[in-house]
Amino acid sequence: MALIVQKYGGTSVGDLDRIANVARRVAKTRDEGNEVVVILSAMSGVTDQLISMAGNICKTPDIREMDVLLATGEQTTVSLMAMTLQAMGYKARSMLGHQAEILTDSRYNRARILDIGARRIRQLLADGHIVVVAGFQGVDANGDITTLGRGGSDTSAVAVAAAMKADQCEIYTDVDGIYTADPNICSKARKLTRIAYDEIMEMASLGAKVLQIRSVEFAKKYNVPLHVRSSFNQEDGTMVVHEDADMEKVVVSGVAHNKNEARITLRKVPDRPGIASRILKPVADAGISVDMIIQNTRLSNMTDLTFTVPKSDFEAAMEIEKKVALEIGAAEVLGDESIAKVSVIGVGMRSHSGVASKMFATLAEENINIMMISTSEIRISCIIEEKYTELAVRSLHTAFDLDSE
Ligand code: ADP
Ligand code: ASP
Ligand code: MG
Repeated sequence: MALIVQKYGGTSVGDLDRIANVARRVAKTRDEGNEVVVILSAMSGVTDQLISMAGNICKTPDIREMDVLLATGEQTTVSLMAMTLQAMGYKARSMLGHQAEILTDSRYNRARILDIGARRIRQLLADGHIVVVAGFQGVDANGDITTLGRGGSDTSAVAVAAAMKADQCEIYTDVDGIYTADPNICSKARKLTRIAYDEIMEMASLGAKVLQIRSVEFAKKYNVPLHVRSSFNQEDGTMVVHEDADMEKVVVSGVAHNKNEARITLRKVPDRPGIASRILKPVADAGISVDMIIQNTRLSNMTDLTFTVPKSDFEAAMEIEKKVALEIGAAEVLGDESIAKVSVIGVGMRSHSGVASKMFATLAEENINIMMISTSEIRISCIIEEKYTELAVRSLHTAFDLDSE
């Protein structure tokens, strides 16, 4: 008897008909003689609605209370799913994060999983139940509810699969698999049969929300093969696996974009040791992660320093930098929220050259100005004006021979 973990995202459980559709798939897997643990997201749009409801009370609601609120989305779907399966004649039980012993640290809104006990999941499986676990949520050492960051149900699924040494972990979503670019903005995107953990990890960190980045980190670390596929058809999706020699032959395997960053520039900063730390440490201390950084020398002893942060942290970071600018004697602080990051990714870049120059030439041909550049071993990213995002993704997709026939 195999143990199969199946995760269904928000669109797949978006209403009662869709919940019934998922229940039939789960039941089929059970009928085939498998043990099944189902991880669910909230109905699509619900987490956003809860966030906006809290935002109507105050601009920065208490983060502990936010997690109590956000966890209700998943509580709704797991109970409805267990009821649907029971109505179909199956033994089924729902489990919230704390009941499944998903222990996390206490960083509300962005908690990390530390351990999964899963005693009750095992007991219920042994007793012939289908177990339906609320994704996205856990509990900290004080017994407080925590959530794992947006898209966190993917991570719940992989962590449960790893803890229970599941034979398969299937991520069911609203697209047929992982594509060479977001199929919702690039009509020529192609479905990949396989992708390396490192590639999808880069793609996820660069804006492709098809998998939460931490879920891939977990999967790689604990050797959990992932199958990303659609809950609306029976087709095979994309397998996320360890890299092999064949994958190196493809130079670029995908294009990603992210419209959720903003840019902050401190102008005319005195150019002396320790200044970058004075500017960036307070931002890090506030829990804001800085992505790209560039520094340009303007005059002999003055420099401009520019960095990017998530859009959701933009206002907080601007406030911090306005204070820093006064302290260090910078001329002004400029903010820009209308930027986007486009990136090309591929493990083949390790052994091929010329990718960066081709990317820059492609953007130049479309008259798209590059504001910032950053690279890693397997990707190149450029910050551009947000309004050119779709054009940039499509032209890079064509230039790197990724278009479907
Ligand atoms: P779920 O609710 O199932 O977790 P998400 O909305 O979080 O689904 O993730 C699926 C979405 O990811 C797709 O609808 C698609 O718009 C987006 N996406 C971005 N990049 C890619 C990609 N390279 N391949 C597939 N989907 C992608
Ligand atoms: N419901 C949460 C979100 O919308 C978690 C998830 O769907 O994975 O971010
Ligand atoms: Mg998701």
